[in-house]
Amino acid sequence: MTITGTTKLAGVIGWPVEHSRSPLLHNHWCASHDIDGAYVPLPVPPGSLDVALRGLQAAGFRGINVTIPHKEDAFRFVDRKTQSALRAGAVNTIVFEDDGTTTGDCTDGKGFLANLHAHGVGNSRHAMILGAGGAARAVAAALLDSGCRITIANRTLQRAIALRDALEGGEVVEWDAWPGQLASCDLLVNATSLGLGGSAGYDWSGSLSGAAPDLIVSDVVYVPLMTPLLQAARMRDLKIVDGLGMLIQQARAGFNAWFGILPQVDDTARALLLHSLNGD
Ligand code: NDP
Repeated sequence: MTITGTTKLAGVIGWPVEHSRSPLLHNHWCASHDIDGAYVPLPVPPGSLDVALRGLQAAGFRGINVTIPHKEDAFRFVDRKTQSALRAGAVNTIVFEDDGTTTGDCTDGKGFLANLHAHGVGNSRHAMILGAGGAARAVAAALLDSGCRITIANRTLQRAIALRDALEGGEVVEWDAWPGQLASCDLLVNATSLGLGGSAGYDWSGSLSGAAPDLIVSDVVYVPLMTPLLQAARMRDLKIVDGLGMLIQQARAGFNAWFGILPQVDDTARALLLHSLNGD
């Protein structure tokens, strides 16, 4: 890749940001579509988001992805928000418009649904969502808005109640009670950070004992790809959907806005990310 004064630029802001696989993905898409573009990781500490965004906009960047811990500050920063951003209460994709304004989107929820569809999963009837953080909120909003009944369970009950109130929809159950309600669900989503890094930390197998045979089990955690939850689900012959596809799907809208092409989710992109996650 040769970067010149006319190269289209985008990137991801986070703190830390070195773990992000977004540069790998976007630069792969630039190369495979023969686009004169580059996507860079940008470590920006908490409290410095505004000044960083203003600087990048002035320097001619097309836009920016925003990750932990900046998604809520990005929501406050942008001039206008998409409906998805308003529902999620967060922004992960910013477009620097030609007129000097900024538009913020949250693509996590749409990415989650697109990943389900890519795995041949149709619209769900009743989803059990575990978690009440940023990922859970985006997933819960997308499912609710698709017409799915949702039940939210979170270790800290008050956060689940606050999420239900913010979304103006859904039900809440206590954390210990969710496995008992699984029989009525056709989708289970782990949107907590449980399982990140492969640590079990939870009796997933026992929790799935009351699952209906057609339950789809999905995890937003993708490191490792086969999380303890997905392993337990596979042992019970339940259909599983891993979180890597969500990561790829949520990136497509930003790439389209900045570089002008909506990239397809091909096996090469998935293989590239898997290769990188496995460290080989
Ligand atoms: P947050 O910090 O906002 O939320 C974390 C959630 O996990 C909270 O609900 C928290 O519960 C819960 N939790 C943490 N530890 C435990 C535990 N020991 N037992 C039960 N619940 C626990 O994180 P995010 O929502 O931003 O991210 C969650 C995960 O989703 C991360 O692993 C992230 O990498 C992944 N993710 C994946 C994406 C993808 O594209 N595949 C996109 C975005 C995120 P409590 O409220 O009680 O603290």
